[in-house]
Amino acid sequence: MYKAKAYSATSATSPLASTTISRREPTEHDVQLEILFCGICHSDLHTVRNEWSEHVPTVYPCVPGHEIVGRVTKVGPAVTKFKPGDVAAVGCMVDSDGTCPECRAGLEQFCPNMILTFNSPNKHLGGVTYGGYSDGIVVDQRFVLRVPSNLDLAGAAPLLCAGITTYSPMRRWGVTKGKKVGVVGLGGLGHMGVKFAHAFGAHVVVFTTSPNKKEDALRLGADEVVVSRNANEMQKHAGSFDFILDAVSADHDINAYIQLLRRDANLTLVGAPAKPLAVAGMGLLFGRRSLSGSLIGGIPETQEMLDFCGAHNITADVEIIPIQKVNEAYERLLKSDVKYRFSIDMASLKSE
Ligand code: NAP
Ligand code: ZN
Repeated sequence: MYKAKAYSATSATSPLASTTISRREPTEHDVQLEILFCGICHSDLHTVRNEWSEHVPTVYPCVPGHEIVGRVTKVGPAVTKFKPGDVAAVGCMVDSDGTCPECRAGLEQFCPNMILTFNSPNKHLGGVTYGGYSDGIVVDQRFVLRVPSNLDLAGAAPLLCAGITTYSPMRRWGVTKGKKVGVVGLGGLGHMGVKFAHAFGAHVVVFTTSPNKKEDALRLGADEVVVSRNANEMQKHAGSFDFILDAVSADHDINAYIQLLRRDANLTLVGAPAKPLAVAGMGLLFGRRSLSGSLIGGIPETQEMLDFCGAHNITADVEIIPIQKVNEAYERLLKSDVKYRFSIDMASLKSE
């Protein structure tokens, strides 16, 4: 066991603050990383503030962070994938049983024994797992990913959650050239969704509540931008979409988007607002439309996504912040004021 620096919250209402946590020494299959950058996902905020208490109550102290890029500092004797000095990444999961049908299908996110990077039982040290708002982490090599060498590391970190969470459902629902695809909410996830849909050759329409994001949306790869509070603009797109990805973090009217789908088309929710969304069944019946959810992606697909990003030079647009600004960053997330992901430069933890 060794000590690592970190930022944690001690209750749903306290700000994140500097602390020291324990990490295990790397065991046989483990990779130890010095964390260089960690993205700030809205899920970090939902968890820190215990907004998902009905599904996954938060255990305090909570060290969030699951968009991790770092440098390998040590490996266990059985590790073959990495050596000290390599750049490597860790996303939302750090363990699973490896034997169930989900794991065998490469869908570790659905394994009944999956362990999240933070706020999951820690079978090595007791208590719960601690995430990437820290200067180091130790993870089984099965959950450590390779980062293409051409990618900027601050911008690569968000690929580990925002990237895979938008890439995976678009692959699953056949987002390809010629398809009309909507992305709702231009935040961390949404802006990655726009980049992927554009890279897959789709006609991309962004729905935003922030008129000041219009130019950015076009620069990021959108073909059209709709300010969703404008009912006339929305109506022009009725019944025309092949696929819509909803990446909104707060309560909103999803029926307004279901109406925009063609026959047999799908709306996938990746946003996870604390409050249940009201769905009008009629919107689904007419047009035989479907509504689905999607959770991050499995390890093989996460590596595929990173390699795709390497080949197409795709990273997140980030605002790099020192960890001391994390509480301010959370307040800005709540105001939809992030362009388009905060990435914490973990070197800033050295001064704590
Ligand atoms: P984010 O960066 O804060 O972006 C959320 C965006 O939603 C905002 O930028 C805003 O876009 C829009 N929005 C916010 N409040 C709204 C409101 N009241 N009405 C309508 N639109 C609103 O968050 P994120 O990190 O991308 O995460 C988005 C959601 O996905 C969160 O709930 C998060 O927990 C969830 N998530 C799910 C998964 C998964 O596996 N399914 C993985 C990661 C995150 P505009 O300004 O363009 O309107
Ligand atoms: Zn996330």
